[in-house]
Amino acid sequence: MRIDIITIFPAMLEGFLNESILKRAQTKGLVEIHMHNLRDYSLDKHHKTDDYAFGGGAGMVMLAQPLADCIEALKKNCQYDDIIYMSPDGEMLTQAVANDLSLTKNLMLICGRYKGIDQRIREHWITREISIGEYVLSGGELPAAVLADAIIRLIPGVLSDESSALLDSFQGELLDAPVYTRPADFRGHKVPDVLVSGDQKKIDEWRYQKSEEKTTRRNKKTEE
Ligand code: SAM
Repeated sequence: MRIDIITIFPAMLEGFLNESILKRAQTKGLVEIHMHNLRDYSLDKHHKTDDYAFGGGAGMVMLAQPLADCIEALKKNCQYDDIIYMSPDGEMLTQAVANDLSLTKNLMLICGRYKGIDQRIREHWITREISIGEYVLSGGELPAAVLADAIIRLIPGVLSDESSALLDSFQGELLDAPVYTRPADFRGHKVPDVLVSGDQKKIDEWRYQKSEEKTTRRNKKTEE
């Protein structure tokens, strides 16, 4: 898989994308991540990427020209499954959306700033808009990093034990069960006996029951 990210702050993403599982995925050749500084595509002598909004009001708007030129330059060398604008009013990122995107080959992610990007880019160049939640961040860099992480960990071979991702919360109907590690007694708080019993059937039953309880509790809370 190839992911191209367009941003005016590439350094914000580089650290995150080059550590841990995402770094390993790239080293193993399972994913290529390419960062593009939008300022490099500005025709303005000061590399300006924003301007005042038509109609007035507070906040700057990201210019159409650098975005269109950057998107078109990238499209010359690659056929994208989706050109995604990270936007608070987009389709909500869920595990199902991440699963769907993990099956694609080439994605372009666009990080907005300020009041967002010129609407004409959204209407004529973008193919999908994704939100990471109903709140507003200062820029699309964290949302792009969240989306990239959610997708990449699902690519076969990225996690050392692939079955781990399949059992995660939101993959099926039930949330993941509680997990514990050593020591079995931490400052007087003990691990449930069943988990150290060695009886795998009982352990599986216990995990299923805990997953059900957790899911019911969460569903009740979201209904309230
Ligand atoms: N004026 C916009 C609105 O109310 O919808 C918000 C713009 S926000 C300050 C700047 C940029 O951050 C957006 O263009 C988008 O790329 C990104 N962003 C902020 N919150 C986001 C979220 N919840 N999900 C995805 N992207 C987000």
